Amino acid sequence: MRPGVALCQSDLPLDWYQDEFRPYAEEYLALPDRMPETVMPWLDGYVRPAIDMFGPSLLLAAHYYMGGEIVKLVERYGGHIGDSYALATMAARSPHARIIVQSAVHFMAEAIALLAKPHQRVYITNPKAGCTMEMMAREDAVEPIAGLLLDRYGDELMIIAYMNTSGRIKALAGRTGGATCTSSNAHLVLAWARRRSRRVLFIPDRHLGENAAARAGIDTDRIATLPTPSGYGASIELETPACCDDAELILWGAYCGVHTVFEPAHAHAWREFGYTVLVHPECPRAVVECADGQGSTNQLWDTVMRAPAGSRFAVGTEGHFVRTLKEQAGLRDITVEHLAAAPRPDLLRVAGCGCATMSRNDPPHLAGMLDLLRSGTPPDLNCVLPGDIVSETTGVRDRLTELERAEMSAHARTAMQRMIDITENAHQDGHS
Ligand code: SF4
Repeated sequence: MRPGVALCQSDLPLDWYQDEFRPYAEEYLALPDRMPETVMPWLDGYVRPAIDMFGPSLLLAAHYYMGGEIVKLVERYGGHIGDSYALATMAARSPHARIIVQSAVHFMAEAIALLAKPHQRVYITNPKAGCTMEMMAREDAVEPIAGLLLDRYGDELMIIAYMNTSGRIKALAGRTGGATCTSSNAHLVLAWARRRSRRVLFIPDRHLGENAAARAGIDTDRIATLPTPSGYGASIELETPACCDDAELILWGAYCGVHTVFEPAHAHAWREFGYTVLVHPECPRAVVECADGQGSTNQLWDTVMRAPAGSRFAVGTEGHFVRTLKEQAGLRDITVEHLAAAPRPDLLRVAGCGCATMSRNDPPHLAGMLDLLRSGTPPDLNCVLPGDIVSETTGVRDRLTELERAEMSAHARTAMQRMIDITENAHQDGHS
Protein backbone atom coordinates (compact mmCIF):
# COMPACT_ATOMS: atom_id res chain seq x y z
CA MET A 1 0.00 0.00 0.00
CA ARG A 2 1.36 3.39 -0.90
CA PRO A 3 0.51 6.18 1.57
CA GLY A 4 -1.09 9.18 -0.09
CA VAL A 5 -2.55 7.19 -3.02
CA ALA A 6 -6.31 6.69 -2.71
CA LEU A 7 -7.83 3.21 -3.05
CA CYS A 8 -8.60 2.34 -6.65
CA GLN A 9 -12.32 1.80 -6.10
CA SER A 10 -15.45 3.93 -6.37
CA ASP A 11 -17.88 4.02 -3.46
CA LEU A 12 -21.09 2.05 -3.93
CA PRO A 13 -24.48 3.60 -3.05
CA LEU A 14 -25.76 2.51 0.37
CA ASP A 15 -28.80 0.74 -1.06
CA TRP A 16 -26.49 -1.68 -2.92
CA TYR A 17 -25.54 -3.37 0.34
CA GLN A 18 -27.34 -6.27 2.00
CA ASP A 19 -29.02 -5.14 5.26
CA GLU A 20 -26.35 -6.90 7.34
CA PHE A 21 -23.55 -4.97 5.59
CA ARG A 22 -25.08 -1.48 5.80
CA PRO A 23 -23.61 -0.55 9.21
CA TYR A 24 -20.12 -1.25 7.85
CA ALA A 25 -20.86 0.69 4.65
CA GLU A 26 -22.17 3.66 6.67
CA GLU A 27 -18.98 3.78 8.72
CA TYR A 28 -16.84 3.46 5.58
CA LEU A 29 -18.70 6.19 3.72
CA ALA A 30 -18.27 8.47 6.74
CA LEU A 31 -14.46 8.14 6.66
CA PRO A 32 -12.87 11.46 5.60
CA ASP A 33 -11.05 9.97 2.59
CA ARG A 34 -9.97 6.76 0.85
CA MET A 35 -6.27 6.98 1.68
CA PRO A 36 -4.70 3.76 2.98
CA GLU A 37 -3.67 5.53 6.19
CA THR A 38 -7.38 6.24 6.85
CA VAL A 39 -8.94 3.01 5.54
CA MET A 40 -6.45 0.53 7.02
CA PRO A 41 -6.95 1.30 10.72
CA TRP A 42 -10.73 1.11 10.18
CA LEU A 43 -10.44 -2.21 8.30
CA ASP A 44 -7.94 -3.60 10.81
CA GLY A 45 -10.55 -3.12 13.53
CA TYR A 46 -12.71 -5.78 11.88
CA VAL A 47 -10.26 -8.02 10.03
CA ARG A 48 -7.61 -8.53 12.73
CA PRO A 49 -10.00 -9.90 15.41
CA ALA A 50 -11.37 -12.40 12.86
CA ILE A 51 -7.87 -13.50 11.87
CA ASP A 52 -6.92 -13.84 15.55
CA MET A 53 -10.01 -15.89 16.26
CA PHE A 54 -9.92 -18.26 13.27
CA GLY A 55 -6.14 -18.51 12.76
CA PRO A 56 -5.05 -20.73 9.84
CA SER A 57 -8.57 -22.14 9.44
CA LEU A 58 -9.49 -18.86 7.71
CA LEU A 59 -8.34 -18.37 4.12
CA LEU A 60 -8.81 -15.07 2.27
CA ALA A 61 -8.74 -15.05 -1.54
CA ALA A 62 -9.08 -12.42 -4.26
CA HIS A 63 -8.76 -12.33 -8.04
CA TYR A 64 -6.13 -10.26 -9.86
CA TYR A 65 -8.89 -8.15 -11.43
CA MET A 66 -9.97 -6.68 -8.11
CA GLY A 67 -9.01 -3.01 -7.84
CA GLY A 68 -5.24 -2.66 -7.42
CA GLU A 69 -5.24 -1.72 -3.76
CA ILE A 70 -7.98 -4.21 -2.89
CA VAL A 71 -5.80 -7.17 -3.83
CA LYS A 72 -3.14 -5.68 -1.63
CA LEU A 73 -5.59 -5.48 1.26
CA VAL A 74 -6.23 -9.19 0.97
CA GLU A 75 -2.53 -9.94 0.53
CA ARG A 76 -1.70 -7.74 3.54
CA TYR A 77 -3.85 -10.04 5.70
CA GLY A 78 -2.03 -13.13 4.41
CA GLY A 79 -4.59 -13.94 1.71
CA HIS A 80 -4.06 -15.43 -1.75
CA ILE A 81 -4.32 -13.72 -5.13
CA GLY A 82 -4.77 -15.73 -8.32
CA ASP A 83 -6.66 -16.22 -11.54
CA SER A 84 -9.89 -18.20 -11.64
CA TYR A 85 -8.21 -21.58 -12.04
CA ALA A 86 -5.67 -20.98 -9.27
CA LEU A 87 -8.47 -19.87 -6.96
CA ALA A 88 -10.56 -22.94 -7.83
CA THR A 89 -7.82 -25.38 -6.89
CA MET A 90 -6.92 -23.44 -3.75
CA ALA A 91 -9.44 -25.21 -1.51
CA ALA A 92 -8.09 -28.60 -2.51
CA ARG A 93 -4.55 -27.40 -1.77
CA SER A 94 -5.52 -25.93 1.62
CA PRO A 95 -7.19 -28.69 3.66
CA HIS A 96 -6.46 -26.78 6.90
CA ALA A 97 -8.81 -23.98 5.76
CA ARG A 98 -12.31 -24.40 7.15
CA ILE A 99 -13.63 -21.01 6.10
CA ILE A 100 -12.74 -19.57 2.70
CA VAL A 101 -13.68 -15.93 2.10
CA GLN A 102 -13.46 -14.90 -1.51
CA SER A 103 -13.50 -11.41 -3.06
CA ALA A 104 -14.12 -11.88 -6.79
CA VAL A 105 -17.10 -12.86 -8.95
CA HIS A 106 -19.69 -15.49 -8.05
CA PHE A 107 -18.70 -18.22 -10.53
CA MET A 108 -15.18 -18.19 -9.07
CA ALA A 109 -16.48 -18.69 -5.53
CA GLU A 110 -18.69 -21.47 -6.86
CA ALA A 111 -15.72 -23.17 -8.55
CA ILE A 112 -13.92 -23.13 -5.18
CA ALA A 113 -17.04 -24.64 -3.57
CA LEU A 114 -17.13 -27.35 -6.26
CA LEU A 115 -13.65 -28.56 -5.35
CA ALA A 116 -13.94 -27.91 -1.59
CA LYS A 117 -13.89 -30.74 0.94
CA PRO A 118 -17.01 -31.38 3.08
CA HIS A 119 -15.47 -29.59 6.09
CA GLN A 120 -14.82 -26.39 4.07
CA ARG A 121 -17.32 -23.52 3.75
CA VAL A 122 -16.99 -20.90 1.01
CA TYR A 123 -18.24 -17.31 1.41
CA ILE A 124 -18.27 -14.50 -1.13
CA THR A 125 -18.03 -10.99 0.25
CA ASN A 126 -20.66 -9.73 -2.23
CA PRO A 127 -22.91 -12.37 -3.84
CA LYS A 128 -24.17 -9.77 -6.34
CA ALA A 129 -20.72 -9.57 -7.95
CA GLY A 130 -21.34 -11.44 -11.20
CA CYS A 131 -19.30 -11.94 -14.36
CA THR A 132 -21.07 -10.33 -17.30
CA MET A 133 -19.78 -13.00 -19.70
CA GLU A 134 -21.12 -15.78 -17.48
CA MET A 135 -24.45 -13.93 -17.22
CA MET A 136 -24.74 -14.10 -21.03
CA ALA A 137 -24.72 -17.90 -20.83
CA ARG A 138 -27.03 -18.79 -17.99
CA GLU A 139 -28.53 -22.29 -17.83
CA ASP A 140 -32.01 -21.05 -18.87
CA ALA A 141 -30.58 -19.69 -22.13
CA VAL A 142 -28.08 -22.46 -22.85
CA GLU A 143 -30.13 -25.58 -22.11
CA PRO A 144 -32.76 -25.16 -24.88
CA ILE A 145 -30.09 -24.51 -27.53
CA ALA A 146 -27.84 -27.30 -26.27
CA GLY A 147 -30.90 -29.57 -26.30
CA LEU A 148 -31.64 -28.72 -29.95
CA LEU A 149 -28.06 -29.42 -30.95
CA LEU A 150 -27.81 -32.62 -28.90
CA ASP A 151 -31.05 -33.86 -30.51
CA ARG A 152 -29.55 -33.22 -33.92
CA TYR A 153 -25.99 -34.47 -33.41
CA GLY A 154 -26.37 -36.93 -30.53
CA ASP A 155 -23.13 -38.31 -29.11
CA GLU A 156 -21.20 -36.56 -31.85
CA LEU A 157 -21.57 -33.28 -29.90
CA MET A 158 -19.64 -32.45 -26.74
CA ILE A 159 -19.77 -29.26 -24.72
CA ILE A 160 -16.65 -27.45 -23.57
CA ALA A 161 -17.23 -24.91 -20.82
CA TYR A 162 -14.77 -22.13 -20.03
CA MET A 163 -14.10 -21.53 -16.33
CA ASN A 164 -16.29 -18.41 -16.66
CA THR A 165 -19.49 -20.43 -16.45
CA SER A 166 -21.73 -21.50 -13.61
CA GLY A 167 -21.35 -24.98 -12.13
CA ARG A 168 -24.57 -25.94 -13.91
CA ILE A 169 -22.98 -25.27 -17.33
CA LYS A 170 -19.79 -27.07 -16.28
CA ALA A 171 -22.02 -30.03 -15.37
CA LEU A 172 -23.57 -29.90 -18.85
CA ALA A 173 -20.04 -30.24 -20.25
CA GLY A 174 -19.37 -33.21 -17.99
CA ARG A 175 -22.64 -34.91 -18.98
CA THR A 176 -21.84 -34.68 -22.70
CA GLY A 177 -18.36 -36.18 -22.38
CA GLY A 178 -16.80 -32.71 -22.53
CA ALA A 179 -14.49 -30.75 -20.28
CA THR A 180 -13.95 -27.35 -18.76
CA CYS A 181 -11.06 -25.18 -19.90
CA THR A 182 -9.12 -22.09 -18.89
CA SER A 183 -7.69 -19.40 -21.13
CA SER A 184 -4.31 -21.14 -20.92
CA ASN A 185 -5.48 -24.59 -21.99
CA ALA A 186 -8.57 -24.01 -24.20
CA HIS A 187 -6.52 -24.92 -27.31
CA LEU A 188 -5.34 -28.18 -25.69
CA VAL A 189 -8.91 -29.12 -24.77
CA LEU A 190 -10.12 -28.35 -28.32
CA ALA A 191 -7.27 -30.41 -29.80
CA TRP A 192 -8.27 -33.30 -27.47
CA ALA A 193 -11.88 -33.03 -28.72
CA ARG A 194 -10.65 -33.10 -32.34
CA ARG A 195 -8.69 -36.28 -31.75
CA ARG A 196 -11.99 -37.84 -30.69
CA SER A 197 -13.62 -36.52 -33.89
CA ARG A 198 -16.17 -34.68 -31.80
CA ARG A 199 -18.16 -31.63 -32.77
CA VAL A 200 -17.88 -29.01 -30.01
CA LEU A 201 -20.26 -26.44 -28.55
CA PHE A 202 -17.92 -23.96 -26.81
CA ILE A 203 -19.48 -21.83 -24.04
CA PRO A 204 -19.51 -18.87 -23.43
CA ASP A 205 -16.69 -16.73 -24.93
CA ARG A 206 -16.74 -16.49 -28.72
CA HIS A 207 -13.36 -14.74 -28.83
CA LEU A 208 -11.52 -17.24 -26.64
CA GLY A 209 -13.14 -19.96 -28.76
CA GLU A 210 -11.85 -18.40 -32.00
CA ASN A 211 -8.36 -17.86 -30.60
CA ALA A 212 -8.14 -21.39 -29.21
CA ALA A 213 -9.44 -22.80 -32.51
CA ALA A 214 -6.63 -21.07 -34.40
CA ARG A 215 -4.07 -22.70 -32.07
CA ALA A 216 -5.80 -26.09 -32.36
CA GLY A 217 -5.72 -25.89 -36.18
CA ILE A 218 -9.48 -25.54 -36.81
CA ASP A 219 -10.27 -23.67 -40.06
CA THR A 220 -12.41 -20.56 -39.71
CA ASP A 221 -14.88 -21.91 -42.29
CA ARG A 222 -15.55 -24.81 -39.91
CA ILE A 223 -16.67 -22.46 -37.12
CA ALA A 224 -20.27 -21.30 -36.58
CA THR A 225 -21.00 -18.51 -34.11
CA LEU A 226 -24.43 -18.44 -32.46
CA PRO A 227 -26.22 -15.08 -32.04
CA THR A 228 -25.00 -12.83 -29.24
CA PRO A 229 -27.53 -12.70 -26.37
CA SER A 230 -29.22 -9.29 -26.27
CA GLY A 231 -28.51 -8.90 -22.54
CA TYR A 232 -27.62 -10.64 -19.29
CA GLY A 233 -29.73 -13.75 -18.82
CA ALA A 234 -31.32 -13.27 -22.27
CA SER A 235 -32.17 -16.31 -24.38
CA ILE A 236 -31.25 -16.65 -28.06
CA GLU A 237 -33.21 -18.01 -31.02
CA LEU A 238 -31.91 -20.35 -33.70
CA GLU A 239 -33.82 -20.35 -36.97
CA THR A 240 -32.69 -23.90 -37.52
CA PRO A 241 -29.98 -26.03 -35.91
CA ALA A 242 -29.03 -26.99 -39.49
CA CYS A 243 -26.99 -23.74 -39.54
CA CYS A 244 -24.36 -25.69 -37.59
CA ASP A 245 -24.19 -28.76 -39.86
CA ASP A 246 -20.92 -27.70 -41.51
CA ALA A 247 -19.31 -26.61 -38.27
CA GLU A 248 -16.76 -28.52 -36.28
CA LEU A 249 -16.84 -25.81 -33.64
CA ILE A 250 -20.01 -23.97 -32.56
CA LEU A 251 -19.34 -20.87 -30.48
CA TRP A 252 -21.78 -19.43 -27.96
CA GLY A 253 -21.97 -15.70 -28.76
CA ALA A 254 -20.98 -14.13 -25.43
CA TYR A 255 -17.96 -11.92 -24.76
CA CYS A 256 -16.31 -9.82 -22.06
CA GLY A 257 -16.79 -6.06 -22.51
CA VAL A 258 -13.50 -5.36 -20.75
CA HIS A 259 -11.57 -7.35 -23.37
CA THR A 260 -13.38 -6.15 -26.48
CA VAL A 261 -12.37 -2.49 -26.29
CA PHE A 262 -9.07 -3.23 -28.02
CA GLU A 263 -8.42 -2.74 -31.74
CA PRO A 264 -5.53 -3.86 -33.97
CA ALA A 265 -4.60 -0.17 -34.33
CA HIS A 266 -3.79 -0.03 -30.59
CA ALA A 267 -1.23 -2.80 -31.09
CA HIS A 268 0.31 -1.16 -34.18
CA ALA A 269 0.57 2.18 -32.37
CA TRP A 270 2.49 0.76 -29.39
CA ARG A 271 4.76 -1.29 -31.61
CA GLU A 272 5.81 1.88 -33.45
CA PHE A 273 7.14 3.07 -30.08
CA GLY A 274 9.12 -0.13 -29.50
CA TYR A 275 6.69 -1.86 -27.12
CA THR A 276 6.04 -5.61 -27.05
CA VAL A 277 2.28 -6.24 -27.23
CA LEU A 278 0.77 -8.95 -25.00
CA VAL A 279 -2.95 -9.70 -24.88
CA HIS A 280 -5.42 -12.00 -23.18
CA PRO A 281 -7.19 -14.47 -25.52
CA GLU A 282 -10.59 -13.06 -24.53
CA CYS A 283 -9.64 -10.21 -26.91
CA PRO A 284 -11.02 -10.38 -30.47
CA ARG A 285 -9.09 -12.57 -32.93
CA ALA A 286 -7.95 -9.58 -35.02
CA VAL A 287 -6.23 -8.07 -31.96
CA VAL A 288 -4.58 -11.35 -30.93
CA GLU A 289 -3.26 -11.77 -34.49
CA CYS A 290 -1.50 -8.41 -34.24
CA ALA A 291 0.02 -9.10 -30.82
CA ASP A 292 3.48 -10.44 -30.03
CA GLY A 293 2.06 -12.86 -27.51
CA GLN A 294 -1.13 -14.04 -25.81
CA GLY A 295 -1.65 -15.61 -22.43
CA SER A 296 -3.84 -16.15 -19.39
CA THR A 297 -3.69 -13.68 -16.52
CA ASN A 298 -1.00 -15.71 -14.73
CA GLN A 299 0.99 -16.11 -17.96
CA LEU A 300 0.85 -12.37 -18.73
CA TRP A 301 2.06 -11.60 -15.21
CA ASP A 302 4.94 -14.09 -15.41
CA THR A 303 6.04 -13.00 -18.89
CA VAL A 304 6.32 -9.38 -17.84
CA MET A 305 7.86 -9.97 -14.41
CA ARG A 306 10.54 -12.29 -15.84
CA ALA A 307 11.55 -9.89 -18.61
CA PRO A 308 14.93 -8.14 -18.42
CA ALA A 309 15.11 -4.65 -16.95
CA GLY A 310 14.43 -1.99 -19.56
CA SER A 311 11.72 -4.05 -21.35
CA ARG A 312 8.57 -2.26 -22.46
CA PHE A 313 5.14 -3.90 -22.75
CA ALA A 314 1.67 -2.80 -23.83
CA VAL A 315 -0.76 -5.23 -22.20
CA GLY A 316 -4.33 -5.79 -23.42
CA THR A 317 -6.46 -7.09 -20.57
CA GLU A 318 -8.41 -5.96 -17.51
CA GLY A 319 -7.45 -2.49 -16.31
CA HIS A 320 -7.00 -3.11 -12.56
CA PHE A 321 -4.65 -5.98 -13.33
CA VAL A 322 -2.61 -3.85 -15.75
CA ARG A 323 -2.38 -1.07 -13.19
CA THR A 324 -1.02 -3.47 -10.54
CA LEU A 325 1.34 -5.06 -13.07
CA LYS A 326 2.60 -1.62 -14.11
CA GLU A 327 3.32 -0.74 -10.52
CA GLN A 328 5.10 -4.00 -9.65
CA ALA A 329 7.04 -4.24 -12.95
CA GLY A 330 8.09 -0.61 -12.51
CA LEU A 331 10.00 -1.66 -9.38
CA ARG A 332 12.14 -3.85 -11.70
CA ASP A 333 12.63 -1.11 -14.26
CA ILE A 334 10.14 -2.70 -16.69
CA THR A 335 7.64 -0.37 -18.35
CA VAL A 336 4.01 -1.48 -18.70
CA GLU A 337 1.18 0.42 -20.39
CA HIS A 338 -2.46 -0.45 -20.95
CA LEU A 339 -2.95 -1.40 -24.60
CA ALA A 340 -5.93 0.90 -25.08
CA ALA A 341 -4.00 3.92 -23.81
CA ALA A 342 -2.24 4.01 -27.19
CA PRO A 343 -0.21 7.14 -27.82
CA ARG A 344 -2.23 8.24 -30.85
CA PRO A 345 -4.89 10.93 -30.61
CA ASP A 346 -7.10 9.34 -33.28
CA LEU A 347 -7.55 6.13 -31.24
CA LEU A 348 -10.09 5.44 -28.53
CA ARG A 349 -8.39 5.71 -25.12
CA VAL A 350 -10.03 3.57 -22.47
CA ALA A 351 -7.14 3.22 -20.07
CA GLY A 352 -8.01 1.42 -16.88
CA CYS A 353 -11.19 -0.21 -18.20
CA GLY A 354 -11.67 -2.59 -15.27
CA CYS A 355 -14.08 -5.34 -14.29
CA ALA A 356 -16.78 -3.25 -12.62
CA THR A 357 -18.83 -6.17 -11.33
CA MET A 358 -15.87 -7.77 -9.58
CA SER A 359 -15.15 -4.45 -7.89
CA ARG A 360 -18.49 -4.67 -6.09
CA ASN A 361 -16.42 -6.43 -3.43
CA ASP A 362 -15.23 -3.34 -1.57
CA PRO A 363 -13.68 -2.76 1.89
CA PRO A 364 -17.06 -2.63 3.73
CA HIS A 365 -17.92 -6.04 2.27
CA LEU A 366 -14.62 -7.51 3.46
CA ALA A 367 -14.93 -5.90 6.91
CA GLY A 368 -18.58 -6.95 7.27
CA MET A 369 -18.07 -10.52 6.09
CA LEU A 370 -15.24 -11.17 8.53
CA ASP A 371 -16.94 -9.43 11.45
CA LEU A 372 -20.19 -11.33 10.85
CA LEU A 373 -18.29 -14.62 10.65
CA ARG A 374 -16.49 -13.79 13.90
CA SER A 375 -19.77 -13.05 15.65
CA GLY A 376 -21.27 -16.30 14.34
CA THR A 377 -23.91 -14.58 12.19
CA PRO A 378 -22.72 -14.80 8.56
CA PRO A 379 -25.65 -14.14 6.18
CA ASP A 380 -26.73 -17.34 4.46
CA LEU A 381 -26.80 -15.52 1.08
CA ASN A 382 -23.00 -15.12 1.25
CA CYS A 383 -22.43 -18.84 1.72
CA VAL A 384 -21.81 -20.37 -1.72
CA LEU A 385 -22.77 -23.93 -2.60
CA PRO A 386 -22.31 -25.61 -6.00
CA GLY A 387 -25.23 -24.84 -8.27
CA ASP A 388 -26.20 -21.54 -6.61
CA ILE A 389 -27.33 -18.80 -8.98
CA VAL A 390 -27.71 -15.27 -7.57
CA SER A 391 -29.43 -12.43 -9.40
CA GLU A 392 -26.96 -9.54 -9.68
CA THR A 393 -29.77 -7.01 -9.41
CA THR A 394 -32.18 -8.41 -6.80
CA GLY A 395 -29.81 -10.69 -4.87
CA VAL A 396 -32.41 -13.47 -5.02
CA ARG A 397 -30.76 -16.90 -4.96
CA ASP A 398 -31.82 -20.06 -6.76
CA ARG A 399 -30.42 -23.06 -4.85
CA LEU A 400 -30.58 -26.72 -5.92
CA THR A 401 -31.92 -29.47 -3.67
CA GLU A 402 -29.28 -31.63 -2.02
CA LEU A 403 -29.87 -34.45 -4.47
CA GLU A 404 -29.70 -32.12 -7.50
CA ARG A 405 -26.55 -30.51 -6.12
CA ALA A 406 -24.81 -33.86 -5.63
CA GLU A 407 -25.60 -34.93 -9.20
CA MET A 408 -24.62 -31.58 -10.70
CA SER A 409 -21.38 -31.42 -8.70
CA ALA A 410 -20.36 -34.90 -9.83
CA HIS A 411 -20.76 -33.96 -13.52
CA ALA A 412 -19.01 -30.59 -13.07
CA ARG A 413 -16.09 -32.22 -11.25
CA THR A 414 -15.79 -34.80 -14.03
CA ALA A 415 -15.50 -31.97 -16.57
CA MET A 416 -12.85 -30.23 -14.45
CA GLN A 417 -10.90 -33.43 -13.91
CA ARG A 418 -10.88 -34.09 -17.69
CA MET A 419 -9.35 -30.63 -18.19
CA ILE A 420 -6.67 -31.34 -15.59
CA ASP A 421 -5.84 -34.72 -17.20
CA ILE A 422 -5.73 -33.24 -20.73
CA THR A 423 -3.44 -30.44 -19.61
CA GLU A 424 -1.09 -32.66 -17.63
CA ASN A 425 -0.83 -35.20 -20.46
CA ALA A 426 -0.13 -32.43 -22.96
CA HIS A 427 2.62 -31.00 -20.77
CA GLN A 428 4.18 -34.46 -20.36
CA ASP A 429 4.15 -34.76 -24.16
CA GLY A 430 5.92 -31.41 -24.41
CA HIS A 431 2.93 -29.34 -25.65
CA SER A 432 1.98 -26.06 -24.01
S1 SF4 B 1 -13.19 -9.22 -16.72
FE1 SF4 B 1 -14.91 -9.90 -18.02
S2 SF4 B 1 -14.75 -12.14 -18.12
FE2 SF4 B 1 -13.44 -11.43 -16.41
S3 SF4 B 1 -14.74 -11.58 -14.58
FE3 SF4 B 1 -14.95 -9.48 -15.35
S4 SF4 B 1 -16.74 -9.54 -16.75
FE4 SF4 B 1 -16.10 -11.66 -16.38
